[in-house]
Amino acid sequence: SPTARAAPEEEPASAALDALRSVATLPAELRLALAREELSLVFQPIFRCEDGAVASMEALLRWNSPVRGPVPPDRFIPVAEESGLIVPIGAWVLRQACAAASAAGGSWRLSVNLSPVQFQQPDLASMVAGILRDTGLSAERLVLELTEQMSLSRYPSARETIRRLRAMGVALALDDFGAGFSNISSLRGFRFDLLKFDRSILALPPAQREPVLSALLAIAGAFGLEAVVEGVERPEDWALLRRLGAGYAQGFLLGRPEPGLGAALVRAPVPAP
Ligand code: C2E
Ligand code: CA
Ligand code: CA
Ligand code: CA
Repeated sequence: SPTARAAPEEEPASAALDALRSVATLPAELRLALAREELSLVFQPIFRCEDGAVASMEALLRWNSPVRGPVPPDRFIPVAEESGLIVPIGAWVLRQACAAASAAGGSWRLSVNLSPVQFQQPDLASMVAGILRDTGLSAERLVLELTEQMSLSRYPSARETIRRLRAMGVALALDDFGAGFSNISSLRGFRFDLLKFDRSILALPPAQREPVLSALLAIAGAFGLEAVVEGVERPEDWALLRRLGAGYAQGFLLGRPEPGLGAALVRAPVPAP
């Protein structure tokens, strides 16, 4: 019958419509998510390669939607950026993370991701200063991770914001280096403290992994930056980083993102391979 023949053609169209509707309601749902306490943080440890000690904890945002279930940040953060919601959400993340790190004490550093949209806010440095003051976290314990989705130089206030943050004692990391828009000129034009290598580097075939990693570690050294390598999933990755003298390592092998700060901090240092 004609109806039976039409069905397979209609299905993709209606699936596409559903997907569109689903995308259309995301900003509204996200707006409510903050007020309804559907957002939370998990923390992933970053280890010093030399001795396996926890050097920092990176705060990562989670959204557990009552209608969608857990929504991954790679899906909802772009929506939050487009709608401008990343500004209040980002401030919430920073405040929660700083409060948790301050309460936990210790000398490890707290890493918080900042969106380029937040960097367009001329009062970002004052916002950070206010949160540090309110939570009692010392500026030296805070690292702000910035992904260069667009050239930083496009934002006139970015340079002044970076200067003010560093003057306060806050460290800055350039995230996802080796992927996307990151390039050497951003290392020259802006003062960072840390360079985080994207996990795609460790995912290279074995013949390329070591020479590429060595070259990137040399780049970090040439700019006086500490190197953090992301995506350590296999024992051989961890062994390679230690052999090449990388500064810091992060990845599922060493520690997964977990709610609360306790788990990784009480665990014994990761042993040498
Ligand atoms: P990112 O900042 O590069 O964070 C690292 C991501 O890699 C995290 O994903 C983490 O769970 C994952 N990861 C860590 N170790 C491994 C590993 O060994 N293997 C693999 N395959 N993955 C690993 P997550 O939590 O899904 O976050 C994705 C991205 O969303 C982050 O990438 C960051 O760009 C963004 N994001 C997360 N939280 C925030 C936030 O609070 N603010 C902003 N602006 N962005 C955030
Ligand atoms: Ca990051
Ligand atoms: Ca990264
Ligand atoms: Ca990323």
